This record gives sequence, structure tokens and C-alpha cells, in this order.
Amino acid sequence: MSSAASHPAATPEGAHPFPHGHLTGIDGLQPWEIAFLLDEAEQWVALNRAATKHDDRLAGLTQINAFFENSTRTLLSFEIAGKRLGADVVNMHAAQSSVKKGETLLDTAITLNAMRPDIIVMRHGSSGAVQLIADKVDCPVLNAGDGWHEHPTQALLDALTIRRRKGAIAKQRVAICGDILHSRVARSNILALTALGAEVRVVAPPTLMPPAVERLGVTAFTDFDAGLDGCDVVMMLRLQTERMKSGLVPSAREYFALYGLTRERLEKAAPDALVMHPGPMNRGIEIASDIADDLDRSAITEQVEMGVAVRMACLDVLTRKGRGVEGWV
Ligand code: ASP
Repeated sequence: MSSAASHPAATPEGAHPFPHGHLTGIDGLQPWEIAFLLDEAEQWVALNRAATKHDDRLAGLTQINAFFENSTRTLLSFEIAGKRLGADVVNMHAAQSSVKKGETLLDTAITLNAMRPDIIVMRHGSSGAVQLIADKVDCPVLNAGDGWHEHPTQALLDALTIRRRKGAIAKQRVAICGDILHSRVARSNILALTALGAEVRVVAPPTLMPPAVERLGVTAFTDFDAGLDGCDVVMMLRLQTERMKSGLVPSAREYFALYGLTRERLEKAAPDALVMHPGPMNRGIEIASDIADDLDRSAITEQVEMGVAVRMACLDVLTRKGRGVEGWV
């Protein structure tokens, strides 16, 4: 369920609901702009549950998914989202290429721009790379994850999942647990959930806790049990070993013993606490399989479902100006 009443802030009178040309992060968005995207996504949740899942508002538009880093669910989700809205979707798999930040990335921007896309969805291993492209091209750019920086559509789909399951985001006590340091998901979620009035905690070993994280308006815990105490939502994160230069965790076994979510540990949280994970999951490292697969507690597959709806909303909203939609020109 969801309702306008669950918004921490309605769009102020006279304000444009979403005045941005790109979506490079949650940073810089007003709470009502985030809530607007969630509201827009609701219609697509309904369409995606219908027998025929089609709308043609992006017909004739070209969507390029430029992925310089591996992805399963995000790429597929953006492809499905674009196709359900009628766009011509082209995937550029550059994960294996040697493209690096700097001149080469700018050349890529110029090349993509010359093909006159109507929207570019981009994932890149370097923080800030998506903004760099957004500054150079003529169409809207959507960040599908850049380095350690942001993953805005993940935060939106997580917020939509929480709002639908819990009825509201404001006042929910949310624990984001695990590899906070390397996680763009954590960063975007902290920004979105605090903006929408949730009480956010981050739980991590000291080596995986970003310095001065409290400045983002969260409470930091290195003790997992203390961090989970009374939480309404427990969001587990993948241990991002590919982003670790040196061993920041002792061993997978020890990590699971100290920071892995088990049924026993979940009892520290509220009795109806919702378990989330952005995927891909490391079963037996940050989360026990029986919890991940417990449909009463885990919203993990619902998160994937909400991902398509949220991405449809973002593709629709960001292309409105180009399509000459009234109020967006
Ligand atoms: N899929 C998420 C991301 O792209 C989370 C992860 O990879 O652990 O950031």
C-alpha cells in the first residue's frame, strides 16, 4: 500500500515536481522530488502485474544502456523498463573493455551523443564518471551505479519497497548493514531514506565503516546486535571484495559469525522487521539462506520487482522535456 499521506513533504505550491535534466544521484534531490518518483512508479507496478505489460509513451525514442561494469539485475531491469514503455533499447556492454576515466571517457560521450540517443543509462566503475558524461551529452543521463558514489534507482526501489510494505518511510528505523565503505547502495539509501524521514543506522566492522559517516545523519554501530535492536527494516549489503585493495575482513567464516544475518540475530530487530538485500547475495557470508528465502521476512524479490517500476518512472520523467510533455517543456 502507499498513500500521499506517507510523504514527509508534499511538492510545495508552484514548485516543479522534478526540475532535473539528469538523475546522477539522490544527492541534490528534494524529499518531494523523491516522493514524486515513487508515486510515478506505482502506476508501473500495476501495469507490470497485468497480463499485457505495454505502454508506448517512449515509442520512437532510443535508449542506450552503456554499462562499463558488470550487472545482471540492473541492466536487465533497465532493458525491460525501456521496452515496456516502447523505447528502442540498445545495450552497450563495455565491462570487458579498457575504457578508463579521462579522455577516453569523453570520447565515448562524444560518440554516444553523435548517435542521437534520447536517454543514456550508464554504469561505470569510477565515481563521478556518469556526471562527466551527463555534462557532455545533449540527452538525459541516468546513473545505474558509479563506483562507490551513488546508485539512485536502487535507493528509489528500496524506498518504494519499504513504503509499500510498511505504509510509510518516515519514522521507520532502518539498519543498513555490512560493507558500507564500498557501497554506492548504502550511500544512495542513506540520502533517500533520511530525506524521507526514516531513522537510519549503519552497522559495519570498523574497517568497512566510512570515516565521519554520522555527517550523513545516521547513527553508526560496530556491534551488529546493538545496531539491529528494534529495527523495522534490516538491509544487508554484499561484501564488495572486488573493491578492496587489501584484506579488510579476516575471513568469510569470521565475517559471517560477526556480521552475517541469521534467524537468531534477526530476533534483535522488531518482530515484523523486513529483510532486504540489493543483490547479488553472498549466501553464508552476509546473509543466511533460510532468511534470504523466507518470504514472510524477506522482500528481496519484491525489490527486484519494484526495480522495473522505478526505472520505468525515471525513464518516463526524464524524457518528458524531450517529448514536449506539457509542464516539462
Ligand atoms: N548491485 C548493487 C550495485 O551495483 C550492489 C552490489 O553490487 O553489491 O551496487
